[in-house]
Amino acid sequence: MKALTELAKRRGFFFQTGKAYGGVGGFYTYGPEGATLKSTVESTWRDRWVTREGHDEIDAPTILPEAVFEASGHLDGFDDLLVECPECQSSHRADHLIEDQTDIAEAESFTPREIESLLAEHEIECPSCGTPLAGEPVEEFNLMFETAIGPGSTNKGYLRPETAQGIFVDFPRLREYARGELPFGVAQIGRAYRNEISPRNAIVRTREFTQAELELFFDPESDDPPLSRVANVEAPLYSAADQDGDGEVHFEAIGEAVESGPIADDWVGYYVGVATEWYERIGIDLDRLRFRQHQPEERAHYATDCWDAEADVSGPDEEPNWIELAGIANRGTYDLSHHAAHTDERFSVFQEYDEPRTVERATVDPDMAALGPEYGSQAADIAAALEELAETDRSAFEGDSVTVELDGETVDVPIEQTGFQVAEVTERGQHETPTVIEPSMGIDRTVYAILVHAYDEDEIDGEHRTVLRLPAEMAPTLVGVFPLMDKDGLGERARELERELRAAGLATTYDDSGAIGRRYRRQDEVGTPYTVTVDYESLETDTVTIRDRDTTEQVRVPMAELPETLAALRDG
Ligand code: ATP
Repeated sequence: MKALTELAKRRGFFFQTGKAYGGVGGFYTYGPEGATLKSTVESTWRDRWVTREGHDEIDAPTILPEAVFEASGHLDGFDDLLVECPECQSSHRADHLIEDQTDIAEAESFTPREIESLLAEHEIECPSCGTPLAGEPVEEFNLMFETAIGPGSTNKGYLRPETAQGIFVDFPRLREYARGELPFGVAQIGRAYRNEISPRNAIVRTREFTQAELELFFDPESDDPPLSRVANVEAPLYSAADQDGDGEVHFEAIGEAVESGPIADDWVGYYVGVATEWYERIGIDLDRLRFRQHQPEERAHYATDCWDAEADVSGPDEEPNWIELAGIANRGTYDLSHHAAHTDERFSVFQEYDEPRTVERATVDPDMAALGPEYGSQAADIAAALEELAETDRSAFEGDSVTVELDGETVDVPIEQTGFQVAEVTERGQHETPTVIEPSMGIDRTVYAILVHAYDEDEIDGEHRTVLRLPAEMAPTLVGVFPLMDKDGLGERARELERELRAAGLATTYDDSGAIGRRYRRQDEVGTPYTVTVDYESLETDTVTIRDRDTTEQVRVPMAELPETLAALRDG
């Protein structure tokens, strides 16, 4: 939407960073209106996804050491498909070129070799200079920004490509905080960095952006899935019902917004409902919102299921243009088990059984007394190997001796010197790795979609106007205060009123420049829902008019009641 991007730049919502230096692709600055809107989007997210759900929020660093991303799989698998133009040397995301120049959707799921064939078959051209790209190699390009931690370059780090890893790496501490009880959720709002091959669509695809993510840790065996939270969501698209009469309640899609059939996972279904409710509150048009399930080839390396929230951000009379606002993914136990495998920490939760259970446990002599002195300095290693063997392969202790391997060398230990015995023990529970459901929302794309859906053009008294129909709660400024003219004490009274409204905590602006009609248009264009005019009658009767942005109707109210009246209008 060109008109919106132009408005965003002119009226201080967002613009490319550092244009004076030529501007680097994929970096955007939010101006005063945009920064306020973005921060309101974040605070409503916090309100809906953290406070109302009863979760905890953390704030982790944006740089993490290489080992974290080795474990998380990002070093190996976080790639996009790159093709370079042989003529002008511009770089492009090969799957996007296929999507843009053919009818093929979701080309992300093809392999580099398949994409190479499609480049030739569909005579794909470089969008910068028109050169045919048939025959060009397609490479996997890792999207992470690399950096060196401390002086020298030996200690590599990466800027996080998602906020999630900051939560996973500190799961052992967060588990303690949650007293080890599942389910619990940890949320985070923060910057993420991806060295996108082709940033585009202003703040829709940038190289530094803000994510709001929730990691919900739960036990899939437990029967306390989100049903205990049903009362917490009144999403218009979802209902919880016992569809097949088997006594089990599941979430069910009841609107057309879900594209690919029922949602198998109750938690995912639940969060589709919460997301719908949040999107509606912040001004996303539900007729232009849909949820789409990922095809298996489309899923990220860590996901077993994923549903994207997509919004149509086309302008009036344009073809629909669906962009991804969020992914609601089932990450299984992928992240926690990988961090456990790469560290000495436990990334699991101790789950108590309903009743203690008696089980047989095989053990070996813990203090090596039976082993005898003849094994010398190898004794400790042998004891450790025997202990592991007793836990994993009891049958190894069935013969006269047990063979263990130490650094490629085999050592035979007579059975009586192992101290092997089987005893009955009582277990209270066991360690289990929780499953993770992750609603991951892009704040910048949400801001963009809010603006597109709020954008409107109409005619007032024969005059064309541009208006942002933002919900009052989201508008960067709630009220504009204008004196009819800046004379005869009207200006002073209006300024005084502005101060009073600010003191009451209402986002207020003052404007006395130009004709009153021009001032209304300026506020309409940035979405200010109410404008208050101080006129001659105000000085006599202590009343003012409030004009409604959408209807342009005006009502006269006593000045003394103005703060409460406006706050009530804002809070609906
Ligand atoms: P895409 O397929 O569009 O590149 P993704 O599927 O890789 O996105 P996720 O990893 O699921 O995205 O990230 C969660 C959310 O973060 C996205 O839904 C999106 O809103 C946001 N996001 C991801 N990449 C960017 C980016 N480059 N610029 C702005 N927002 C982004």
